[in-house]
Amino acid sequence: MPCETIVLRDEHGSVIGGRIICSSDRRATCRFCRALKRSRPARYLCDGVRDTSTCNAPLCEGHALEVGPDQHLCPPCDRARATPLVVARFE
Ligand SMILES: [Zn+2]
Ligand SMILES: [Zn+2]
Repeated sequence: MPCETIVLRDEHGSVIGGRIICSSDRRATCRFCRALKRSRPARYLCDGVRDTSTCNAPLCEGHALEVGPDQHLCPPCDRARATPLVVARFE
């Protein structure tokens, strides 16, 4: 989300100050839509596990893959899941 600049003016129209308001809740926008310069509200958090922690990427309905009751994966976690645990070595 872009930050919003608020310009404060006095009664003569002179700029007396400004303020930058950044989106207070970054989780409210889908991470993958944001990468595409779109902004769609996130409805889910990714339940994929990366290493030892949960991914927790905010996801919109379009990017959340439902894998179980209240279990959703983001596209990279879905791909990681589909990849065999033993990664083939290219030599
Ligand atoms: Zn999305
Ligand atoms: Zn994920």
